[in-house]
Amino acid sequence: MMDKNAFLEKVREGAELIKMHIELGHSIRIISHRDADGITAGAILAKAIAREGADFHLSIVKQLSEDLIKELAEEDQKIYIFSDLGSGSIRFIERYLADATVVIADHHPPEDGEIEQENHVIVNPTQFGADSVRDLSGSGVAYFITKALNEKNKDLSYLALVGAVGDMQEVDGQFHGINVEIIDDAKKLELIELRKEIRLFGRETRTLAQMLAYASNPELPGITGDLRNAIEFLRSKGFDPDVNYWQLKEEEKRKLHDALVIHLIKNNASKEDIDRLIGDVILIRKYPEGDPRHEAREFATLLNATGRLNMGALGVAICLGDEKAFRDALKLVEEYKKEQIEMRKYLIQNWNSAIEKDHAYVFYAGKNIKDTMVGIAATIAINAQLTNPEKPVVVLADSEEDGLIKGSARTTKRGIEKGYNLGEALRRAAEVLGGEGGGHAIAAGIRIPKDKLDEFTELIDKLLGQQNSSGDNNGN
Ligand code: C5P
Ligand code: C5P
Ligand code: C5P
Ligand code: C5P
Ligand code: ZN
Repeated sequence: MMDKNAFLEKVREGAELIKMHIELGHSIRIISHRDADGITAGAILAKAIAREGADFHLSIVKQLSEDLIKELAEEDQKIYIFSDLGSGSIRFIERYLADATVVIADHHPPEDGEIEQENHVIVNPTQFGADSVRDLSGSGVAYFITKALNEKNKDLSYLALVGAVGDMQEVDGQFHGINVEIIDDAKKLELIELRKEIRLFGRETRTLAQMLAYASNPELPGITGDLRNAIEFLRSKGFDPDVNYWQLKEEEKRKLHDALVIHLIKNNASKEDIDRLIGDVILIRKYPEGDPRHEAREFATLLNATGRLNMGALGVAICLGDEKAFRDALKLVEEYKKEQIEMRKYLIQNWNSAIEKDHAYVFYAGKNIKDTMVGIAATIAINAQLTNPEKPVVVLADSEEDGLIKGSARTTKRGIEKGYNLGEALRRAAEVLGGEGGGHAIAAGIRIPKDKLDEFTELIDKLLGQQNSSGDNNGN
């Protein structure tokens, strides 16, 4: 269980430091991660700081490298806030930013060792017993800090929930941990509605036929990937395949839920997949039905689409209510979703070239998958049942940077129960091979020299194998 009071004490410490620098008239330097969670975290901090009348300078970045931290140090700022990243770079931050105040607002399990600089504070719920992928996201940490700064910032709670959904914190169908407190804040202010509905992508902007045919989480056997079957399924149950889910009456929604659950059961879907088909869905009241910003998952996808093209600033603008930014991003989403559909086909056709070791599948896609998409590829491989769900998956592709390959590892609850910790394994692999790696137990990333691919394949199997046996010994 999480020690919430101890966490909130850290939150206040972080907020106090920020407040002090605002009062001193310093500009606040914010560096945030470029996915939906990081973009919403950055937007929450920026809005809250502007509200206090202070200046800020926000950058949305792919990752926090030693070089980037050195560059930031050259700016010679008085205070730096890192959100949705930083916990894996504590040593570099301490070394290069020793003279500045630093607040790390993050949820990634931190690199070993304590912070020694007394002007540096790490606000991270995992240090108080929280699960990094369920209980709170980076945007949630940013939210709690801004709420401690000024109660008014409770009106940003809905953005924190968009970030949480972007990080798949409710992937099993419901919100956990102190995410629930953010939901309560947002509900009290009537900013959101929390509903039990179908969690498939496209509530606002896709037809029912598209929603089912492109269902990826979970996949619908015989329907995912086959628009014609989706249409036939819907017609046979008495639904118009061309309407959107949001247009259905409540009783129609219930009828569709029942039909889909029966379909999953008939097709021997796992209990987990059946459980997560219908569950918590967040609707944001300031946007109308049919607007992708009305539903948190579609909102998050909009932000992910901007971040992946290095247009994170556009995503921040959307969060701050910029209508033009929103319209610009709509086009990016279409491309992003199309790419995911193509990628699923490619994975299904080529999965036979994945190397299956005792403790991992390793699939190298070269230039056939963009390095910004390998994480989604690994999730798709699992959801499309190309793998044994207990065994972790690593998908690698040539990186945008020459000579490097980018890899993403993903597993499932069942993999975790076998003792695997992907973040730990990739961190150690990167140390051995020269590169950077880390992340959560269930989802992690790595970047290594291309000529180390074969060595990586052997090493990751060995590292995961060690975790697996130690996991068994502990009875986990
Ligand atoms: O990289 P990460 O695992 O965060 O990817 C999460 C995001 O990837 C989700 O927010 C979603 O946009 C996208 N995704 C997807 N289809 C999947 C899995 C993930 O679109 N099957
Ligand atoms: O970078 P960050 O922590 O924000 O992203 C978390 C990552 O973990 C996302 O890529 C998300 O899709 C992934 N995830 C996952 N399975 C879960 C929970 C999160 O793959 N059950
Ligand atoms: O998570 P994100 O908001 O970006 O979700 C958008 C897309 O990702 C949708 O296609 C959705 O079905 C898919 N997704 C997924 N698995 C998740 C989260 C999202 O397949 N865990
Ligand atoms: O890069 P990818 O999307 O696969 O990352 C999965 C998770 O691992 C994310 O939460 C990301 O922030 C984290 N990660 C990390 N350190 C790295 C690479 C990824 O903490 N070097
Ligand atoms: Zn995150």
